[in-house]
Amino acid sequence: SIATVVSVFNGEHSVGSQVTVRGWVRTRRDSKAGISFLAVYDGSCFNPIQGVVPNNLNNYQDEILKLTAGCSVEMTGEVVESQGKGQTFELQVTEVKVVGWVDDPDTYPMAAKRHSIEHLRELAHLRPRTNIIGAVMRVRNCLSQAIHRFYHERGFLWASTPLITASDCEGAGEMFRVSTLDMQNLPMTDKGEVDYDKDFFGKEAFLTVSGQLNAETYACALSKVYTFGPTFRAENSNTSRHLAEFWMVEPEVAFADLDDVAGLAEDMLKYAFNAALTECREDLEFFAQRVEKTAIERLEAFVSSDFAQVDYTDAIQILKNCGKKFEFDVEWGIDMSSEHERFLAEEHFKAPVVVKNYPKDIKAFYMRLNDDGKTVAAMDVLAPGIGEIIGGAQREERLEVLDMRLEEMGLEKEDYWWYRDLRRYGTVPHSGFGLGFERLVSYVTGVSNIRDVIPFPRAPRSANF
Ligand code: ATP
Ligand code: MG
Ligand code: MG
Ligand code: MG
Repeated sequence: SIATVVSVFNGEHSVGSQVTVRGWVRTRRDSKAGISFLAVYDGSCFNPIQGVVPNNLNNYQDEILKLTAGCSVEMTGEVVESQGKGQTFELQVTEVKVVGWVDDPDTYPMAAKRHSIEHLRELAHLRPRTNIIGAVMRVRNCLSQAIHRFYHERGFLWASTPLITASDCEGAGEMFRVSTLDMQNLPMTDKGEVDYDKDFFGKEAFLTVSGQLNAETYACALSKVYTFGPTFRAENSNTSRHLAEFWMVEPEVAFADLDDVAGLAEDMLKYAFNAALTECREDLEFFAQRVEKTAIERLEAFVSSDFAQVDYTDAIQILKNCGKKFEFDVEWGIDMSSEHERFLAEEHFKAPVVVKNYPKDIKAFYMRLNDDGKTVAAMDVLAPGIGEIIGGAQREERLEVLDMRLEEMGLEKEDYWWYRDLRRYGTVPHSGFGLGFERLVSYVTGVSNIRDVIPFPRAPRSANF
């Protein structure tokens, strides 16, 4: 029967049974005794399976001795217990079918040597064959499945929000325009400028920077929803934690206040990390060995820690009094930069931190105004080693306050007619947050540049195909 490598290692095929494994040769080693060892990898788990190939196979001389890294094969044999350390089972091979040769082994870019992670980025089509990207992808998959499971278990509905939208979520990020215009024949305004308002079949349209406002409309009917989808921000940044295309998880909960969703964020992160710790052990061990020594310990510390909570105003005091010189000055009213965030999580609290109640002037109009009139019920979750991974808020549910905030920020009520309707018809307190999924994968794996934790990174100067 056809078997995956992981199913053989798991003991799903009894010793003595015949199985066929299909995959790519990692290495071939020939012993003087006239047997060859083929390591075949199929991506189902971290390790390749070893095939012990006797020299009496009829294609031994002509084919097997010519196999090189990257060749694709179907290897059939009997499952036997492995003598090698670390391996559970291997195959006593009876047949090897070569499916595809590597046409020039000397120039095969993925030959068995170590490549720098930066170099691999240039080889976006071949890097999935490496240990590191394979491990990243298994962890990424595990985390996304765990997040869906987490919300499903708690009765949330997955609501997909549109990728093409007119709403800009109030400055969450720079937007990409979506256009159906004929570039040879652009419509012009009276002033002789290109009339981009006619972009999308006669209206202006962009790629979404956040699904939040749309998610709110569904939360205000179905109570608990979440989105999990791609998000786009045209930030021309070259930081290691910003992409132009990234995935966001955005739960939105009716009848919930900021503390409720802070608790939800903590539960979700711990749930996802526990899933990685139990389901991706081998991959995490690889990261601990090769990428980030503390990869496992810090996850274990995270899941057993209580999140710290601090008011923005107190956090500013902590930063001012800590005696540390930061690149960016600390003043009440600033949007903290990552050095500030990391100091709070790593050095001061030594735990994940929820910072709450930010100045209203650095936050969007829809965040709920606190009684002090100066701050809003917003939160960021800061993780040691990375800084902000979640941003969230209680939303303003009072129509008159919302209108006042729109006016204060120079926004037109008419543009938000549908958003205001949610406050006019059976308004409820509600809250939610956004988790940057790649920041999560980066945190779990210790792979520090988020270009390396998404299959095809979209960022300035990244390969585009
Ligand atoms: P930052 O301050 O790091 O730029 P932000 O405050 O602009 O983030 P939010 O609008 O709060 O981000 O978005 C919610 C979450 O999405 C962030 O906490 C972060 O994890 C993630 N995120 C934001 N921008 C990006 C990006 N360009 N690439 C990847 N993830 C991002
Ligand atoms: Mg930003
Ligand atoms: Mg921020
Ligand atoms: Mg934020």
